[in-house]
Amino acid sequence: MKTAIITGASRGIGAEIAKRLNELNYNLVLNYRSSTSSMEELINSFTNKGTKNIIVKCDISNYEEAKKLIEEAYKNFGTVDVIINDAGITKDNLLPLMTEEEFDQVIEINLKGTFNCCKHIAKRMIKQKQGRIINISSVVGLAGNAGQVNYSASKAGVIGLTKSMARELGRKNILINVVAPGFIQTEMTEKIPQELKEEMLKNIPLQRLGQPSDIADCVEFLISDKASYITGQVISVNGGYYM
Ligand code: NAP
Repeated sequence: MKTAIITGASRGIGAEIAKRLNELNYNLVLNYRSSTSSMEELINSFTNKGTKNIIVKCDISNYEEAKKLIEEAYKNFGTVDVIINDAGITKDNLLPLMTEEEFDQVIEINLKGTFNCCKHIAKRMIKQKQGRIINISSVVGLAGNAGQVNYSASKAGVIGLTKSMARELGRKNILINVVAPGFIQTEMTEKIPQELKEEMLKNIPLQRLGQPSDIADCVEFLISDKASYITGQVISVNGGYYM
């Protein structure tokens, strides 16, 4: 049985990926920062009851806490085949109004948090001579977006980080890719005003927001044997919003 770590698993895209990996018979190490009740609900909703799941509550932007997350996974399961770095936040504001704190917090969680988890698991994956890493970026990291200089910088950073890691770790049989979602229906996009959503829809060729399951489908492919010659890539799942 394979094992996967998912950061930011309590809600939205992370929770959907967790459900999918549970169906695929993965043991799971589920991370979150604050939504304890959502996490319990998630585990209760798992249809496959034959796997082992552990929950590790920690802030992945903290270097030492991220290290403990990875250690906890190896202590419980011995090997970790897959890590999905999904945890992320937004703190939107136009540049002249954006505070230093809003900028720093987003970079700390989205970019440094991803670095922390990748750094701590890389040593272990090198030792086990295999691994798959999926980093969740965003269409905004590719295209930019007004009101999101912090978020787009963090997500573009995740792409650079991933490509460099893929170059370093390919020879160790570790495959690392980015999934770049477009606008996906979760709590994160609920905050977007309705008029803006309608405006965005006009620019999405497929004429709908994505669902967390659209992202889980892509992740399922990238961690499968069918993706064994794919590394260092950015796979966009955005309904054609950005090409
Ligand atoms: P969401 O519903 O807001 O969920 C975010 C998850 O991240 C929650 O489980 C949250 O846990 C966790 N988290 C936040 N900060 C954390 C930290 N410091 N340490 C550990 N966990 C932390 O977001 P989502 O829409 O599912 O987005 C998931 C990922 O996809 C993010 O990286 C996001 O940037 C990216 N993305 C989303 C969209 C979209 O349209 N929704 C588009 C492109 C990219 P707690 O609730 O427990 O704090």
